[in-house]
Amino acid sequence: MRGVVLHTPGDVRVEKRPDPMIIEPTDAIIRVTAACVCGSDLWPYRGVEKLEGPVPMGHEYVGVVEEVGSEVTTIKPGQFVVGSFWASDNTCEICRSGYQSACVHRVLMGTIGTQAEWARIPLADGTLVATPGMPDADLIPSLLAASDVLGTGWFGAVAAQAGPGKTVAVVGDGAVGLCAVLAAKQLGAERIIAMSRHAPRQELARQFGATDIVTERGDEGVARIKELTGGLGAHSVVEAVGTQESMTQAVRSTRPGGHMGFVGVSHDVSLPGDELFFSLVHLHGGPAPVREYLPELIELIANREIDPGKVFDLTLPLAQAAEGYRAMDERRAIKVLLTP
Ligand SMILES: [Zn+2]
Repeated sequence: MRGVVLHTPGDVRVEKRPDPMIIEPTDAIIRVTAACVCGSDLWPYRGVEKLEGPVPMGHEYVGVVEEVGSEVTTIKPGQFVVGSFWASDNTCEICRSGYQSACVHRVLMGTIGTQAEWARIPLADGTLVATPGMPDADLIPSLLAASDVLGTGWFGAVAAQAGPGKTVAVVGDGAVGLCAVLAAKQLGAERIIAMSRHAPRQELARQFGATDIVTERGDEGVARIKELTGGLGAHSVVEAVGTQESMTQAVRSTRPGGHMGFVGVSHDVSLPGDELFFSLVHLHGGPAPVREYLPELIELIANREIDPGKVFDLTLPLAQAAEGYRAMDERRAIKVLLTP
C-alpha cells in the first residue's frame, strides 16, 4: 500500500509501505476513506519534536472495516467506522472512568500511521465506533473531525466546564480551538470568546458559535478578556495550542474558581507554582479521551446538528500529502483532508 512517511523535518514522502495484517486477534484492518494532517504532526515536521525517522505519519482516520481478528466480536467487515488516535480496550478501569486515552492497554495510532490506504486498528471492539449505516459523502469530513480535533476540542470544553451561564474563552484558532468553540456552544455556554487574528478563522469561529473575537495576545489578550468579563476573567478557558505563551495566557484569563481545559500538546511549558497557587484555577487537560465522546459526536453529525467538517479547507489526494503539510505549516490551510 501507499502511505505517508516523514524522513527528516520538512521531508514528507508518499511511498510504498507494507500492507497491514492482523497481528493480534483483537485487531481490525480498515480501508481508510479519509485521513488528515494534524497540528500535532507539525511538531516533528518542523523539527521541534525529536524525530527518529523515517516514521509513518497520521493518527486520524475513518474507513470501512475489511477484516477482523478472531477475538473481535462487535465490529464487523463492511461497517463504516470512526476511531480515536489512541486505540483503547474500553473495558479497563481507566477506560470505564472515561479516560480511554490513558487505557492500560492503549496503543498510539501515530505509531501505525493512518495517512495511508489501509490501517491496522488494535483493540478494534474498544477503539472503533460504527456509524449508523454508510454515511453520505458530505458527512465524511465531519466524521473525520470527530476522530481527533472535534473530540479534543470537546474534551477541552468539558474540562473547562463550559455550560449554561458560563463565559468561555478559547485560546488558539487551529482546528481544535475552533472545535472547542463548537463544543462550548453545544454544551450551552452563554458567551464564547474566540482568540484569533486570522479573518477566515474568526469567521468560522462565529459560525461555530463565538459571540466575541479577541485579536490581542499575551498580556494584552488577558487584559481584553478581563475587560469583557467585568474584570474577573472567564469562567472557562480552553487552551488549544501548547506553548508557553498560550498556557500563560489561558491561566491568566481564567477567573478565580474557574476552570481551564488544556488540550494543546504541551511543548517546553513550565508554569510557576506560586502563580498557580494564587490563581485558584482548576486545571485539567491532556490527550483527549476522544473515544468517550465518539458515540454522542457521531449522532450529532449523523443528525446534521453540527458540522465540524468545515475545519477542512483543503482536500488533497494522499499522493500530494507533502503539499498538505506545507499548507498547514504556512497556515494557508486550517486543516487538510487527505483521500487515499
Ligand atoms: Zn482501557
